[in-house]
Amino acid sequence: MISLRRLALALLIVGVAVDVLADRAPPPSPPAQRGGYFVLAVDFHVHSFLGDGALPPWFLVGEARRRGLDALAITNHNRTWPSRLARWLTRDDTGPIVLVGEEVTARGFHIAAVGVEQPVDWTHSASAAIDAIHAQGGVAIAAHPSLTFWPAFDEAALRKLDGAERAHAGIHQSWGDDHQLAIFYTSARAYQPRLAAIGSSDFHTVGYPGFCRTYVFAHEASARGILDAVRAGHTVVYDRHGQPHGDAALFPLLPADNRAELGTAPRPGLGSWCAWFGLLALVLAGRGRGRDRHP
Ligand SMILES: [Zn+2]
Ligand SMILES: [Zn+2]
Repeated sequence: MISLRRLALALLIVGVAVDVLADRAPPPSPPAQRGGYFVLAVDFHVHSFLGDGALPPWFLVGEARRRGLDALAITNHNRTWPSRLARWLTRDDTGPIVLVGEEVTARGFHIAAVGVEQPVDWTHSASAAIDAIHAQGGVAIAAHPSLTFWPAFDEAALRKLDGAERAHAGIHQSWGDDHQLAIFYTSARAYQPRLAAIGSSDFHTVGYPGFCRTYVFAHEASARGILDAVRAGHTVVYDRHGQPHGDAALFPLLPADNRAELGTAPRPGLGSWCAWFGLLALVLAGRGRGRDRHP
């Protein structure tokens, strides 16, 4: 008789295969070039299934392509392996670029760490976390820096930050969030004038990757080019009213806002559901075996 574990594993494999074969995302178009820059649409903060998001990495990357993103960072809470897995799964793709990272998640602060391969210790201060991100060559972006997170970003942390989310999916739900992110961004720029304005979806289950996005003005269309542009502050985002924020010299080069599509959201297909149930059954079967061994 077929064991539950084998059945679950088969369901997982079939689910992944169905999703991959059914992915009819259009081929990626080459990034726009304006004013001597590659203008890349990037979502720096997306959560993936096999962790804390709804969509598995292969589906996320297809969805990012459908939404016209040139790159996305997969930033699960305090884990980098889902993003490394996504990069590996898409290593032969022509786009979008998968940026490896995590959301350093502590009680007092959340920081999107992009360009880091190993998880950063989240048990110390925001300033120490930023140092650890920089030591790996990554960039540190204050994630949804609303009022509750302000105290953790002391002067030492603010001087080292590379970017702050000025646009986040939450600003379209709450006027207060929009206001608080605006205050944080303006205040932080007093300490770090090159602070990059970042737009992120923070996609878990509702919305879609690229719901809020960053326009990155890079000298090369690569992961390294994107990180360098963030360090230089060469970014622009649209707020909930369609007003641009970031490096004002780049405003004339901006593409049109994507807010016309804000009401649409991706739906996991049959393959994703199969993979979900397969993985769940594998976990349950594993627990059952553990209990059998330790009565
Ligand atoms: Zn967060
Ligand atoms: Zn998040």
